[in-house]
Amino acid sequence: MINESTKRNGMLNRAALVVLILIFSASAILLLSPLKALAFDEEGYIKFIVSKVNESNGNNNNTNEVQLPETAKGPAIPPKGYLVEEIRDHLYWVTDGSYNTMFLVTNKGVVAIDAPPSLGQKYLRAIAEVTDKPVNYMIYSHAHIDHIGAAGLFPKNVTIIAQDETARELQSAKAVAKNVTMVPPIPTITFSKNYTLEIGNQTLKLDYYGTNHLPGNIFIYAPKQKVLMLVDIVFPGWVPFPYLAIAKDTAGFINAHDIALEKYDFDTLVGGHLTRLGTRNDVIVQKEFVTDLENAATKANQEILFSKVAQQVGHFDNPWLLFSNYIDAVNEKCTQTVLPKWESRLGGAGVFMSTHCFSMSEAERVDPTLQALTQNSTFIYR
Ligand SMILES: [Zn+2]
Repeated sequence: MINESTKRNGMLNRAALVVLILIFSASAILLLSPLKALAFDEEGYIKFIVSKVNESNGNNNNTNEVQLPETAKGPAIPPKGYLVEEIRDHLYWVTDGSYNTMFLVTNKGVVAIDAPPSLGQKYLRAIAEVTDKPVNYMIYSHAHIDHIGAAGLFPKNVTIIAQDETARELQSAKAVAKNVTMVPPIPTITFSKNYTLEIGNQTLKLDYYGTNHLPGNIFIYAPKQKVLMLVDIVFPGWVPFPYLAIAKDTAGFINAHDIALEKYDFDTLVGGHLTRLGTRNDVIVQKEFVTDLENAATKANQEILFSKVAQQVGHFDNPWLLFSNYIDAVNEKCTQTVLPKWESRLGGAGVFMSTHCFSMSEAERVDPTLQALTQNSTFIYR
């Protein structure tokens, strides 16, 4: 059932995933280490990312790799390691080519959103580059360290706003921490569903609709600028980070696309990752991708029969071996269905498609909301 090239691809995908996770976690962990290590590793990390982004912006002569689609490419990152640009009306975005975030300058101070460790001190430099106003407020999009781990670099008197679940997650981390400085500062203002921050002449609206990528992950909307920030859901020009960006709730992840499009009048999206800002169309494109993935996973779940795979494997004394082969077969079927359309449209599709197929097909097998949506009720008996 599983041919050698599929196994090899699976192993390569896993190897690529491990390398990427190592890069992302090493950057997050090392950048949170003592300041000396931070300065060293931050430089190394930024140089690596800048060279990779600029490489991908140039001509790719490697014929063994699928060319990156034009839509996956973003602006070049200057040698200083970050790019800061005004989106509109004193709202800026800052990026290192891998992580991005935004900050709002008002006549009464700055509102910084998130504090990715990969940017670290460069975030403070970017803010100082465009304004001499102090940072008064910080908003956490969600509790993940790779987006807020550098919050401790900001002045201690900054008021931090987050959704209840984010505060709870950080409190729990602090309760078990051997070194509490490793935990980002606990939010000082929390909210359940909505919070409007009005400061000086500017407004930010924060909304929570339930778990998607993570419990507590919020929609951050700048109405005057028509900018929506939604982190770790939409990856403009690219497929998501592996396993649907490790979404805690697959149905919530899917639904977040509709919420963005139906409830917000935005034309620019800050997604938290990769090469460029997004547009409304990027959300529509990723929604189409996720819908195709749902259909491909449903088809694979229906067409690959566990009993048939088990018969081919034999070894009935080892159920995990049977399941491993079954899962590989479902992933292969799903990937074959969905990849041809998307490998030329979204960056990284060939690299991560089997992980997205795994997340979607597993969620469709066991998640009651997704089963209800796809009517693929494998395990429901009356
Ligand atoms: Zn996250």
